[in-house]
Amino acid sequence: MPELPEVETVSKHLQCLVGQTIKHIAIHRPKLRYLIDPKQKQQLPMQIVKSIQRRGKYIIVTLSQDQLIIHLGMSGVLRIFDQAPPLQKHDHIVVSFENGQTLILNDPRRFGAWIFTSCAHDHPLIAKLGPEPLSKDFNAEYLYQICQKKRLAIKKVLMDSHVVVGIGNIYANEALFQSGIHPLSLSCNISLQHCQKLYTACVNILEQAIAKGGTTLKDFKKTDGKPGYFSQELLVYGKKDQPCPVCNTKLEDFLVSQRHSICCPNCQKRV
Ligand SMILES: [Zn+2]
Repeated sequence: MPELPEVETVSKHLQCLVGQTIKHIAIHRPKLRYLIDPKQKQQLPMQIVKSIQRRGKYIIVTLSQDQLIIHLGMSGVLRIFDQAPPLQKHDHIVVSFENGQTLILNDPRRFGAWIFTSCAHDHPLIAKLGPEPLSKDFNAEYLYQICQKKRLAIKKVLMDSHVVVGIGNIYANEALFQSGIHPLSLSCNISLQHCQKLYTACVNILEQAIAKGGTTLKDFKKTDGKPGYFSQELLVYGKKDQPCPVCNTKLEDFLVSQRHSICCPNCQKRV
């Protein structure tokens, strides 16, 4: 599943569309995660792409009059072609531009979203999102205040997009490992010092992953449909039963809110 760094990479890749005028949109499948609004077939042509930004794991495309909110779901890939290629299986949305470029959303599992709206900021999917993890609104003190108010596993708090956006399962596992906190620790027991460590780990991991997006970006230009997600090195995610990279203790795997949690029982203390 694409996480924040991958979506940031896609968003950067799409910047070449800013300033381009939409000529036509073809919707080959009327429903992904949500119904795709057919009005856009009439309303998108002749609109100019004004900006493309990431908010959490959403890509917001601002046009002359309207906005698009795009989510890649589990398996969505956005690709740009200089000339329209033959249609592939799972190519659900094809946008043609006046300059000949073509943007295609391919999504085999169809959990992605393509939402046409007059105001993305007020849309229910966007309006209640928490702060961006790399903005000044997300910091140790903020995390501490939220943790104090909840009595939930810290991993669950970290992955709640109303608390902070874009820290998915992979990065939550890695950040908790790096900060030595057990994923099942109750949030209300987490100290400000722990929050400082956790905050620093989240920022470091996301910044490193975004920096590595440079290598991922090449993959997005390929036409073989391989997005190259998760190319960055991960310390614990997906390493069940392997030795801890710090102390060699066997890493444990258990579920927190139906999501796999990998943890070193020696390095990660329950607080
Ligand atoms: Zn360990």
